[in-house]
Amino acid sequence: WSQQFLPTPLHLEDSVRAQKVEARLKDLVLCGEVLRRVAEVFEQELERGLSEQPSSLQMENTYVPELPDGTEEGVFLALDLGGTNFRVLLLELAAGQLVRQQVKHYHISNALRLGTGEELFNFLADCVLDFVKQLGMEDQAFSLGECCVLGPGNFYCDTSRMYTSFPQNKCRALCAGFTFSFPMKQHSISSGELITWTKSFKCSGLEGVDVAALLERCLRARNLQITVRVLLNDTTGTLIAGAHMHKNVGIGVILGTGSNGCYMERASRVQHWEAAHERVQDVCVDIEWGAFGDNGCLDFIKTDFDREVDAASLLATSFTFEKYIGGKYLGSILSCVLSALARAGLFPAEPAPDALQTAHLSLFEEENCAGEVSRSLEVLREVCACAALSAEDARVAQHVAHVISNRAAQLVSVCISTLVRRMARPHVAVAVDGSVFKHHPRIATLMRTYIALLAPHHSNTRVRSALYSILALRASCAE
Ligand code: BGC
Ligand code: MG
Repeated sequence: WSQQFLPTPLHLEDSVRAQKVEARLKDLVLCGEVLRRVAEVFEQELERGLSEQPSSLQMENTYVPELPDGTEEGVFLALDLGGTNFRVLLLELAAGQLVRQQVKHYHISNALRLGTGEELFNFLADCVLDFVKQLGMEDQAFSLGECCVLGPGNFYCDTSRMYTSFPQNKCRALCAGFTFSFPMKQHSISSGELITWTKSFKCSGLEGVDVAALLERCLRARNLQITVRVLLNDTTGTLIAGAHMHKNVGIGVILGTGSNGCYMERASRVQHWEAAHERVQDVCVDIEWGAFGDNGCLDFIKTDFDREVDAASLLATSFTFEKYIGGKYLGSILSCVLSALARAGLFPAEPAPDALQTAHLSLFEEENCAGEVSRSLEVLREVCACAALSAEDARVAQHVAHVISNRAAQLVSVCISTLVRRMARPHVAVAVDGSVFKHHPRIATLMRTYIALLAPHHSNTRVRSALYSILALRASCAE
């Protein structure tokens, strides 16, 4: 069993070189026993987070207590911040169907991502103003039905049914769902403080600030009467989007620049509540698994390559787990490993700093699957500035990409399979979104294999049906 987790071995004409390369990579290779240990630690941390004991897993209560049922109606504004673009959408739903959609993307410059929080939020409000002006809606008073939540796949849900305190059908302003894909301490479904930045953002002065209130304030300053009715992160959005497409969806996962998951938990198992919840049975919990291991509990899998990637990252010593999985980091790990091989005389040259991206890792994997090397070779010759690079060298780089991808797939699968086992439902489907999931040629296949191995007491059919919908989602998430 444990051996079934091992990556495909490296075959080179020079078998001594192949062995030496494999020896250098051995810390990146996790067998089933180690993964089982990761799963145990994950479950302990999860329990501790839920019961408000010290834990690297935040287990944030999102206050989203139910998923859409296809009866959603109304006109909604949806905002999405998390990557390098800010998306603004206007959506119209009739009987749960999307009948109108307008989308605009606004690029967030590096200067804005690293500037002050006030500047960033003023920019977001300017984008919204531009958007509603373009639609000729800036002074329009709206009579809206319910409010909505936007998921990264452009889906939505009506959440007002769950909160009787919402003045249903009486609200005369645009309602916004704000997807803010960073760790938050949520006080309600519509408010929450930023805990810390992740990925490529590091704006000053925003930690501890209620981002929904700040956005509203910036909108008011532009005479926009828009209320943020739902504040959520992208995993919650993915879960909601998935629930729209498949009735068994109970877990939402992002495998993109960053990585994270959420799931529907029994409300009685969640300790932290800042609102009445007597009638709430289940609630969506945002795990924030990117931070898993920040307290040292996962140090047994950390390699020197990971230490190097962390030290060079924008936010060092945080988001340990995300740095094993996220698209922001996979290319950096690849670069680190190839440099180490070059220094050991096992690779012809070191890649230029930051030249290798996760897209290259995906390309290497794609060619590796097809038994080809030509495009990999072209990329490597360029990033290593070395024309003498051979097909055999490209195979080494492809193998490194494979080992790194395999570990990433395994670690995400550990989290998902732990949730699948914990939820103990007859069928749990997993909704997955994000650039790595969509563009990496075999991450979905690897995940299917590993989830089946790690959640063995779930019959194959159940696991398979869960993963069918991963693939179905993959096909239908246009972006
Ligand atoms: C953030 C999460 C988010 C994930 C995926 C992480 O860096 O902390 O809130 O869900 O990235 O975008
Ligand atoms: Mg907590």
